[in-house]
Amino acid sequence: MNDFLMDMIASELEDAVGRENCSTRTIDKLTHSVDYFWLSRMWADRGKRMPEGDFVVSPKDAEETSKVLQIANYYKIPVTTWGGGGGTQGGAIPVCGGILLDTKRMNRIYDVNTQGMYIECGAGAIYKHIEWAANEKGYATMHYPSSLTCSTVGGFLAHRGIGVSSTKYGKIDDMTLQMEVVLPNGSIIKTSPSPKHAAGPDLNQIFIGSEGTLGIITKAQMRIYEQPEERRFRGFLFHNMTDAFNAGRELLQKFKPSVMRLYDEAETATLIKKIVGVQKKGAFMNIAIEGTKELAEAEHKILMDTFTKYGAEDLGSEYGEKWWKEKITFFYPGYMMDLPQMFGTMDTIAPYDKIEKIYWEMKKAIETNFPMARFIAHFSHWYEWGCMIYDRFIIDDVPEDPHEALRLHNAVWSCGVRTAIANGGVVNDHHGVGIKLGRLMKEQYGPAMQVFEALKKQLDPNGIMNPFKLGL
Ligand SMILES: Cc1cc2nc3c(=O)[nH]c(=O)nc-3n(C[C@H](O)[C@H](O)[C@H](O)COP(=O)(O)OP(=O)(O)OC[C@H]3O[C@@H](n4cnc5c(N)ncnc54)[C@H](O)[C@@H]3O)c2cc1C
Repeated sequence: MNDFLMDMIASELEDAVGRENCSTRTIDKLTHSVDYFWLSRMWADRGKRMPEGDFVVSPKDAEETSKVLQIANYYKIPVTTWGGGGGTQGGAIPVCGGILLDTKRMNRIYDVNTQGMYIECGAGAIYKHIEWAANEKGYATMHYPSSLTCSTVGGFLAHRGIGVSSTKYGKIDDMTLQMEVVLPNGSIIKTSPSPKHAAGPDLNQIFIGSEGTLGIITKAQMRIYEQPEERRFRGFLFHNMTDAFNAGRELLQKFKPSVMRLYDEAETATLIKKIVGVQKKGAFMNIAIEGTKELAEAEHKILMDTFTKYGAEDLGSEYGEKWWKEKITFFYPGYMMDLPQMFGTMDTIAPYDKIEKIYWEMKKAIETNFPMARFIAHFSHWYEWGCMIYDRFIIDDVPEDPHEALRLHNAVWSCGVRTAIANGGVVNDHHGVGIKLGRLMKEQYGPAMQVFEALKKQLDPNGIMNPFKLGL
């Protein structure tokens, strides 16, 4: 874009959001070009610059966001939304330049409504801040992802995120009442005041998981819950993965624990040993039960009876409590993989009749095709019908040349995700698609992909919203 046009557009954007909230400074562009996508970090680590936005713009509300989108539509320049930049899929990277729209000025908490059991807040609020606001009134959001302190409400909605207490409280979509969204043409809309209605399809579900490709979420009402009277933990060791899956599946036909997390032998022997202190060989499983004292008591008995039936070794409450205390330590430096290592989480979800096969097939595919890779996994989120695999590959010896490193990275991912799809899994469970997995969306959906493409074409005819993400 030539200097003259750049200045013309900048002056319009400044008019929309205020001069201090529209930047073309290198420092602002650079800090909005690398998220938690391994490739973006590797690229920067090797001295190369990731694609940058031409303008970094921070609107304060839906009205200002609408003005920015109208300008973008007129000039037909791309708009990429940036929440906390904690995404792992390169979703917030402005791969085609244009406007980088940072939502963090939209961080107001409007209402902590204890009667309606929700918080109304700007989509740029960091989730930890809304948790604190709920806690002040004796309530909790029950959304506890490891990135609670760095990712935003809008970011979790855009990627359909999930926290550690998901088995009882669900994913972010289960926690959402109403949303305010600015459509690509600048229209400001609200979804219905309550979800789970029969007034046609649920509009929330069009925008949740849409990764900024169909609109920008500017406000949301997120559910809050009463603090449980009691939260208790129990750690177990399984000596056979099939027993662990069957025990988990049977337990969920009886009641819903809050935390339910199974680590395979490799992860038990490494991270769980290091952080939680479990020394024995086997697959560690942590269960948390919460609610009223009476219910916790009854559920505890059901848990012990069910798991004993499947030969689980009872480790008592100590390791489970330690796990809860240290649940974010898993991501701290020294515990988490980091550059120069190559690593990634290929999370997938499937019903119980497929999940174990997917695990073994992915492990085999990665270990056979990439003998230099280690494969470890845990199963973090469980439902009555199935669960998800949080499987990771780690490669210590990464090619120095960034182009070769990129090719190796993409080859490992294509192999792992294609194996998951071939065995009944889904491209991703809760980290989203972004630029990282966009190429695999058509393989996942086949002819059904045309539904997303038609939605995109209708809502965003100029194709300005977050191009090349989500395979769109
Ligand atoms: C250490 C660590 C641990 C993590 N643990 C978890 C975990 O436990 N559970 C989990 O679910 N995720 C986890 N993540 C991933 C990450 O936190 C989530 O993907 C989160 O949803 C990203 O939110 P963000 O605000 O950082 O979004 P960004 O990275 O800024 O953006 C992500 C995507 O959302 C879009 N977007 C952002 N805001 C909006 C908006 N208001 N409207 C429309 N589109 C928008 C962006 O364009 C982009 O496509 C973890 C990440 C890290 C770094």
